[in-house]
Amino acid sequence: MQTRDLSSHSPYVPGRGIEEVARDLGLDPDELIKLSSNENPHGSSPKASAVVIDATETTGLHVYPKASHTDLTTAIAGRWDVADEQVWLTPGADGAIDLLSRAFLEPSDVILESDPGFAYYSMSARYHHGTARTYDLSKADGFAQTAELVLDTYDGERIVYLTTPHNPTGSEFSREAIETVAAGVDEHTLIVIDEAYGEYSERPSSIELVDSYENIAVLRTFSKAYGLAGLRIGYAIVPSAWADAYARVNTPFAANELACQAALAALEDHAHVDRSIETARWAREYMRENLDAKTWDSAGNFVLADVGDAETVAGRSQERGVIIRDCTSFGLPECVRISCGTEAETRTAVDTLNKVLSEVSAQS
Ligand SMILES: *Cc1c(COP(=O)(O)O)cnc(C)c1O
Repeated sequence: MQTRDLSSHSPYVPGRGIEEVARDLGLDPDELIKLSSNENPHGSSPKASAVVIDATETTGLHVYPKASHTDLTTAIAGRWDVADEQVWLTPGADGAIDLLSRAFLEPSDVILESDPGFAYYSMSARYHHGTARTYDLSKADGFAQTAELVLDTYDGERIVYLTTPHNPTGSEFSREAIETVAAGVDEHTLIVIDEAYGEYSERPSSIELVDSYENIAVLRTFSKAYGLAGLRIGYAIVPSAWADAYARVNTPFAANELACQAALAALEDHAHVDRSIETARWAREYMRENLDAKTWDSAGNFVLADVGDAETVAGRSQERGVIIRDCTSFGLPECVRISCGTEAETRTAVDTLNKVLSEVSAQS
């Protein structure tokens, strides 16, 4: 027995978990600071946690999620002033990427994505029998994201992904650039704007464009600013013209009961989100100012830093209790990505990294 040919597929390599690392180092997980997966250092909204505990007793876990899905959809639609049918609720934004692949890709269709960039776009394309091409962001240009860069590379692909703020660099597209790309591609090309880090940006969401362009869809998630990464809940906002495709491609009840209820509570807990955004904005500035390495302006809840040898620096930093992301898998073996922690965690991380950096440079 064999699977189909999966030789072009590569597994997603996540940042390592705190328990794993603690076990390897013989440390208590509480002694470690994990800044490798862009999670919310303040945890989830206490209101969302309370709802999850309560839901296990009241609604119970034995019923399919129905009312909770409808309620969350309506709340998100209200938040963005779109119709309910334009909201595609999914297990994480990754789930939305899959549904868009399912709805749009025919076998051997091609998607266009940034390099460096987020691994899941091409993975999803391959799962759906498609392939991927890249537009290359230039380190020398500060990983600038421009319409020209995308359109010069564009060659009729079915889906073009724009990540803004961009992971792992933190750079952004301007509104003007996004509109230039949307207007500059062929009629059959869908532009997917990934706003997984949208809350941390100062720019308005591209959801405002969805009603003016039939070829723009926007991704959002509860995994980052809303602190619900463990529950897997996100969504796409899509144009009305083809919004009804959701019912034809969605896995039944893919967005689970606890996730829907928690997301609804989190959406209404403005204090928690505001605090999360405020801390991240402080932390990214603090890292930019105090890290003894070249860094880039970031609109997300993380900062990319050029440390020379990422594997060594991330390894030594981990031995000292601070887990950061080695960006070798992003094609940047000289860079690390450091997520914004709480104020105390961020200060400790910067101190630790600066010690590691001076130690490493003294040895070379
Ligand atoms: C984290 C992330 C996502 C989505 O993550 P989910 O947990 O699946 O919602 C999407 N795009 C980018 C660029 C990300 O960094």
